[in-house]
Amino acid sequence: MKSTSEILSQKNMELSDLTTLLLLEDKNDIDMLYKRAYQVKTENVGTKVFFRGIIELSNICAKDCYYCGIRKSNESIERFIMEEEEILNAAKWAYEAGYGSIVLQSGERCDSKFTEFIETLLIKIKNQTENKLGITLSLGEQTEGTLKRWFNAGGHRYLLRIETSNPSLYQSLHPDTHSFNERITCLKTLKSLGYQTGTGVMIGLPNQTIEDLANDLAFFKQNDIDMIGMGPFIPHHDTPLAHSMGNFDDYKNKQLELALKMIAVARIYLKDVNIASTTALQALDHSGREMGLQAGANIIMPNVTDTKYRDKYQLYDNKPCMDENSTMCKACLGNRVKSVGETIGYNEWGDSPHFKKRLK
Ligand code: SAM
Ligand code: SF4
Repeated sequence: MKSTSEILSQKNMELSDLTTLLLLEDKNDIDMLYKRAYQVKTENVGTKVFFRGIIELSNICAKDCYYCGIRKSNESIERFIMEEEEILNAAKWAYEAGYGSIVLQSGERCDSKFTEFIETLLIKIKNQTENKLGITLSLGEQTEGTLKRWFNAGGHRYLLRIETSNPSLYQSLHPDTHSFNERITCLKTLKSLGYQTGTGVMIGLPNQTIEDLANDLAFFKQNDIDMIGMGPFIPHHDTPLAHSMGNFDDYKNKQLELALKMIAVARIYLKDVNIASTTALQALDHSGREMGLQAGANIIMPNVTDTKYRDKYQLYDNKPCMDENSTMCKACLGNRVKSVGETIGYNEWGDSPHFKKRLK
């Protein structure tokens, strides 16, 4: 059995090495893992953090994922879609605040009213920011035609989490009408269309093994992924998955540690990709996002959605920053980034170095 320092000093890692690192329990070993990940981050993507202002524009969703608080069958939430004007204002705010990019995220809808609405929005956002604001889309599975139209209208990055690379675990988390293979096909289409492509998984799902997580990392590598957005699974009280689980408080800290280990191993293994320190980390610990940066992440997605919509876009329980407006978020995050000795890449897109190399 190899020691932690032996694994961390290797040039390349095998699947069994990924598993060993994810299984680390000893505090000194885990600290060693984070330190190595931070070193790899410094060498490959630097210590500048890039902000993507996230606009959660609608909680209307045609899908019914068993873990998600805004799933179609959840009748206890009021559905909304933001007005075009409100979205344009949020994008303008992010641009003027010096955030180089935004993320447009929502429940999944493939109807033409929605896809056309997004296309128009993209064109207007690009126009009002002289083509300078980067736009990531996180709008679920769409047809090749829609993705092409959105790309031509100005979306250039797309985040589509595969949730897990284990097909049978995927199927257990979704109704039969949701297809793992179609999700993978969509991810491949995104790449072929020229999007900077991001994916990710939920960490600490019921019945997910450490081997599953190691396979997730291998999947990211095999598919030459540019950006990773992964975070801890957190139950939402109104979902079937939460009903099948015990008291989350009992394993919350373990969940956080596992998510941080995944970020660290991903950084060491994949090196030059962008990795987000997700809000879900902060739901588990007040300093969760700073911990994510120290474990190897380099992207933060401050919420720039109007506070009046935030309580309607709760994917999981205890989502943080519910009543902080965008200005408060900016100040708070600025301090958080400074507290770990890093700088913010204002007015820059902060593209993934992996993507730039892939294009050459
Ligand atoms: N509807 C689009 C989709 O599913 O790709 C984009 C929005 S969806 C809310 C974004 C991500 O939220 C999902 O990919 C999923 O990983 C995450 N998510 C949903 N419920 C969650 C939960 N209970 N805990 C942690 N993450 C969750
Ligand atoms: Fe809809 Fe996305 Fe939530 Fe699934 S994860 S129910 S597709 S918003």
